[in-house]
Amino acid sequence: MAKLLEGKPLAEKIKEEIKAQIQALGIKPVLASVLVGENAGAEAYVKSQSKAAENLGIVYQFHKLDAATTEVALIEFIKKLNSDKNVNGIIIQMPLPAQIDYKKISQFISAEKDVEGMHPANIGKIVFGKAKILPCTPAAVMELLNSTGVDLYGKEVVIVGHSEIVGKPLALLLLEKFATVTVAHIGTSKAGKLEEHIKKAEVLIVAVGKAGLIKGDLVKEGAIVIDVGINRVDGKIVGDVEFEAAEKKASYITPVPGGVGPLTVTMLMRNLVEAAKLQK
Ligand code: NDP
Repeated sequence: MAKLLEGKPLAEKIKEEIKAQIQALGIKPVLASVLVGENAGAEAYVKSQSKAAENLGIVYQFHKLDAATTEVALIEFIKKLNSDKNVNGIIIQMPLPAQIDYKKISQFISAEKDVEGMHPANIGKIVFGKAKILPCTPAAVMELLNSTGVDLYGKEVVIVGHSEIVGKPLALLLLEKFATVTVAHIGTSKAGKLEEHIKKAEVLIVAVGKAGLIKGDLVKEGAIVIDVGINRVDGKIVGDVEFEAAEKKASYITPVPGGVGPLTVTMLMRNLVEAAKLQK
């Protein structure tokens, strides 16, 4: 039976490190958070980010802009935050209204204040193994893997899902650890080849958003399983992996909820402190 890889205890440990780093910095870092329009989901994220920030001694500066804000106006607002010396990091809450293209506006956040780690300059640094600010979800996955103490050198790692925020940057981070990385995606599934990749994975990371996509009995004996997926089924939150069957075969497995999720906001705060250090 697999050991549970829970995010919360690990997040608590990392928060202590963040607090120590903030003390060493000698300032209260400021995170500017921008929400455009009304959205219950985004408001919930804002609440949890603001609570996490407060507990760490971080100032959470919340800006709520009108739903009719144009792309040009939002870019102007971002530029103002970029030049505000009191602001150390900027996060734009999702989803954005239809008139605003996130990919376009996010390029305007200065790389030094990009606490989500998605600026092309920060993504590019991952390729060179020099990134200090990492995309939050891949960073959370790396922390969970690290907590197992298992050396990734030469391991067969299979990532399912090739999104820009999870699968692609995660593949680069795993290459830095000398893992043998396979990235499976919709093309793999359509070619009928997903199963063969799942079966060989010594480390399986799934980030798709389809409940039950990964049949638990396909998981390799002793594999580490990280389930990033979040799906609502019959009012319950579940991942992409059939948990009950998978936990019988895996050596470690993340629960959903309670695995990757609790760590991502902590990674955001860690990025903010890294950003503040770089600005100093
Ligand atoms: P995206 O929708 O951007 O990416 C999903 C990926 O899965 C794409 O690469 C897609 O390929 C691929 N895919 C779709 N169907 C299949 C299939 N049948 N077989 C193989 N691959 C498939 O999602 P995100 O990366 O943003 O998020 C993935 C999941 O992780 C979601 O459930 C999301 O809620 C969750 N998530 C959880 C976080 C956390 O903190 N725990 C943080 C971020 C995300 P293509 O696009 O080509 O169709």
